[in-house]
Amino acid sequence: MDAARTALRLCPEKVMIIYRRGREEMPARVEEIHHGEEEGVEFHLLTNPIRFIGDKDGRLKGIECVKMELGLPDESGRRRPVEVKGTEFIIDAEIAVISVGNGANPLIQQTTPDIKVNKWNNITVNPDTGRTNKKGVFAGGDIVRGGATVILAMGDGRKAAGSMDEYMKTGVW
Ligand SMILES: Cc1cc2nc3c(=O)[nH]c(=O)nc-3n(C[C@H](O)[C@H](O)[C@H](O)COP(=O)(O)OP(=O)(O)OC[C@H]3O[C@@H](n4cnc5c(N)ncnc54)[C@H](O)[C@@H]3O)c2cc1C
Repeated sequence: MDAARTALRLCPEKVMIIYRRGREEMPARVEEIHHGEEEGVEFHLLTNPIRFIGDKDGRLKGIECVKMELGLPDESGRRRPVEVKGTEFIIDAEIAVISVGNGANPLIQQTTPDIKVNKWNNITVNPDTGRTNKKGVFAGGDIVRGGATVILAMGDGRKAAGSMDEYMKTGVW
């Protein structure tokens, strides 16, 4: 929703959201969907992108999609979208923003392999201090929690700042 509404502000011809489930299943807040519609985002619901189509220079010119229908609920409790065979069609598009979740920047593990991370590559810290397993290194926010909120990241920063202060004054890790 954020990507689509931000894209709208860059004055494109149009902005579309392609989503494989229906409106009821959208994980966005109701008011965000409402605002998106009000601002002119075009919603292609029960539609799944299956292929990007490029021009001879490798620039995007279209997205092949297929229509979906909702089947039985999956592990998340939401009805599983199922492809409707033979309903493939192409949407003209010049830019695609793939907004299907977020993950840790892999750079940290490459440059600092001795820092302890969990299976999602989020940094492991002492939750009371923000201290990592690496002396003098603190972490907080999304890189520790996965996708969370601004207020939690700010709280982590505040906690870590106190802990940094203590470490600098005492030198005790
Ligand atoms: C689309 C979207 C919508 C969201 N909406 C909300 C919302 O409405 N309300 C809410 O509370 N939260 C929202 N969030 C979550 C919120 O943005 C995050 O929880 C919060 O920004 C986490 O803060 P952070 O400081 O941990 O990480 P970030 O804000 O991600 O900051 C990390 C910073 O580190 C920089 N960085 C990365 N690697 C390096 C490097 N190697 N060297 C130097 N700098 C580096 C990045 O450029 C970035 O500036 C949203 C997130 C997304 C993606």
